[in-house]
Amino acid sequence: VARPAHVHVVNALPKTRSGKLLRRSLQALAELPGSRLAAVSSLYASDPLGPADQPRYVNAVVALETDLEPLALLDALQRIELAQGRERKAERWGPRTLDVDIVDIEGYTCDDPELIVPHPYAHERAFVLIPWLAADAGARLSGEGVAKRVAALDPKERAEIRPLGMMEEL
Ligand code: ATP
Ligand code: CA
Ligand code: CA
Ligand code: CA
Repeated sequence: VARPAHVHVVNALPKTRSGKLLRRSLQALAELPGSRLAAVSSLYASDPLGPADQPRYVNAVVALETDLEPLALLDALQRIELAQGRERKAERWGPRTLDVDIVDIEGYTCDDPELIVPHPYAHERAFVLIPWLAADAGARLSGEGVAKRVAALDPKERAEIRPLGMMEEL
């Protein structure tokens, strides 16, 4: 039985490459066995918290209907990260090319350190909540509407998550 899962995709790359890599990653999600993209948010830019010379992050959240079991889904997401050339620079908290996390799986929770669902920080991350709401207006997290959580965010924090313009997405 297909489960509705929500997946956050984020990367940090020079502007000319970030939208392209993100779209390729979304395509890879759509091509997972027994899976289909039910909804995709637009792309949102956010600024890194670390050193100021880092590129911006580009975020999206998708609703994925999948037959994959949760651990198989996690494994598939990690394969996508590797296939899209995820790099870890020596510098800690430096930019990364691609990070794909499970935000939530409907009707499922897990506390294993290898897979924590819902994602332990999803409820407080504007760069997850805002695209998530854009992908699924009825999204719920731990029994509460995501819309309500977005409304409760600090307006300044909310303003820092900016929809990418059409030209920028290319
Ligand atoms: P953060 O949790 O702050 O988003 P991160 O995404 O930077 O951290 P990674 O280094 O990408 O962390 O992942 C570390 C490990 O987290 C993964 O190997 C994976 O087993 C585990 N993990 C636990 N829960 C999840 C989840 N919901 N989605 C993705 N990975 C998870
Ligand atoms: Ca498919
Ligand atoms: Ca993450
Ligand atoms: Ca991750």
